[in-house]
Amino acid sequence: MICVEQRHLWRPDDHLDGPQRGDCAAACVASIFELPYEECAEIGATDDTITAWTEKRYPGISYSHRMLGEGWRGKERIEDYVNWPTSHYERGYWMATIWSPRIPDVETFDCGCAYDQNNESTDPDPNCKWCHGDPGSRSMGITWGLHAVVMLGANLAWDPHPAREKNPTLYFCGASKWTVTDPSQLISKAKLANAVANAIELDQLRRLHEERTALKQELRKTKDELAQLTESGK
Ligand SMILES: [Zn+2]
Repeated sequence: MICVEQRHLWRPDDHLDGPQRGDCAAACVASIFELPYEECAEIGATDDTITAWTEKRYPGISYSHRMLGEGWRGKERIEDYVNWPTSHYERGYWMATIWSPRIPDVETFDCGCAYDQNNESTDPDPNCKWCHGDPGSRSMGITWGLHAVVMLGANLAWDPHPAREKNPTLYFCGASKWTVTDPSQLISKAKLANAVANAIELDQLRRLHEERTALKQELRKTKDELAQLTESGK
């Protein structure tokens, strides 16, 4: 694991510099796979982009994400994140999706009865079984403000956000991990290049050793000759 910091921080829609999505997931993947940020920059906020990246880059490894906690089954309220699990364990390094203390959670209210077949606004249906004619009362669910961090086992290993708090409470929304599904495909280009470099180095060492042995023999021969000359000169 290396510490790769995120480069794009979340900004709201009405920010003076315009809205922006954070790239915490890309920074987490780069950290876990020990790659420069640039090699993971194509990773966005969705699992699909991580799956595609992993398939392309590491054919022997598969990516999986699962939701944690029970809150996903029923109707959610904006304060429900406090009921999310605050501890979770996965073996080795993994990526946790957590509730973000910086990005607001947004609950959307709307109802299909307030739109016609062309998706144009129309008068809501007073007999609608979902909203009884009041689309503003029907929750369409919450878009959670989420963040991604690198975990090792049950511990926080790296928070890619520059504001990283010292001892934050992590409210776990989901767990992402990578598992080896085909070990035969695990030899990466980097490893191969490394192996080639090692072979070249080994070859050079062997040649040096041979040269040294030859020089030693030469030296011994010269010494012997010198000794003979000294002997005969007496
Ligand atoms: Zn309705």
